[in-house]
Amino acid sequence: MAFTHIGLLCSGGDAPGMNCAIRAVVRTAISQGIKVTGIRRGYAGLLRGEFSPMNLSSVGNIIQRGGTILQTSRSPEFMKPNFRKTAVEIMKAQGIEALIIIGGDGSFNGAMSVWNEHQFPVIGIPGTIDNDISGTEYTIGFDTAVETAIEAVDRIRDTAHSHARTFLVEVMGRNSSAIALKVGVCTGAENILLPHEKVNHQKIFDDIQRGVARGKESSIIIVAEGPVAGRSYEIQHVLRDMYHMDAHVAILGHIQRGGSPTADDRFIASQMGNLAIHALMDNKFPVVTVFNAGKVGLNDMKNCITKSDHNFTEYQKLAETLSI
Ligand code: ADP
Repeated sequence: MAFTHIGLLCSGGDAPGMNCAIRAVVRTAISQGIKVTGIRRGYAGLLRGEFSPMNLSSVGNIIQRGGTILQTSRSPEFMKPNFRKTAVEIMKAQGIEALIIIGGDGSFNGAMSVWNEHQFPVIGIPGTIDNDISGTEYTIGFDTAVETAIEAVDRIRDTAHSHARTFLVEVMGRNSSAIALKVGVCTGAENILLPHEKVNHQKIFDDIQRGVARGKESSIIIVAEGPVAGRSYEIQHVLRDMYHMDAHVAILGHIQRGGSPTADDRFIASQMGNLAIHALMDNKFPVVTVFNAGKVGLNDMKNCITKSDHNFTEYQKLAETLSI
């Protein structure tokens, strides 16, 4: 099938670099004579018919901007087959012949169902700071989120050192360990606490005491947030009540989501956006653009609809070894 008109949306959590992908999709499509309709606010906007025709200048001056110009959302309705049927009818009524989705594994689950139930062509582009999608080693936004967290931890380290303090710095990533592990290694953290791990308070205390004994002035413990942000406070209380240890808490929160995308995020997103259009033109769907072994490529969407904690726990050991 030769496509003449496609829809494009972002879904789930926003991530820096989504705009680079939008720009690449729109400009590649137009260069190939394909019309692009931007769908605002994800699947929820699709169901409400929030459409914006995209032209070359709609994506001008966005490559450096965080977030997504199309905005994004979570849509509980889209979990239900009757709403997905309506969504397909709405797209067909607009003349849209295929849908490109920039989002995470949840968004790809929705897209996969659209294909399975209606054979409506879908292509996914992985965009989430959590880097937690199966079938790809990288997701757009991860590098920027890591850079932002590193910068914040470096600042915290300055004050931690000046006051000889221990800080628990909580980083984003829900159940994913990816941000915590990379930030921990890159900031010389004394410990990295992963989302699913039982916290070993005795070990934290012993590690810090060992550091103090050799004259160490500060300690940074990176805490992966887990399903509910704020678990650092629990850890702080146990350290205080059981070990009489005074640790300060810094929760980085949403500052990790925004900001101008790094070179890696811009570069990978640009390639993925471009490849998504070429995949469609080659009638390859449902697929996801992926990044594996240093290269952008395609993977069947069915391989990218589960979470994968690229849980390189050896980085946890590395951080501890290098910070003794
Ligand atoms: P992400 O795409 O970042 O993983 P979510 O998990 O919140 O984010 O999913 C985004 C949206 O994708 C949801 O609000 C919902 O509309 C849709 N979605 C998620 N999971 C499914 C599913 N199993 N079936 C259909 N749609 C889904």
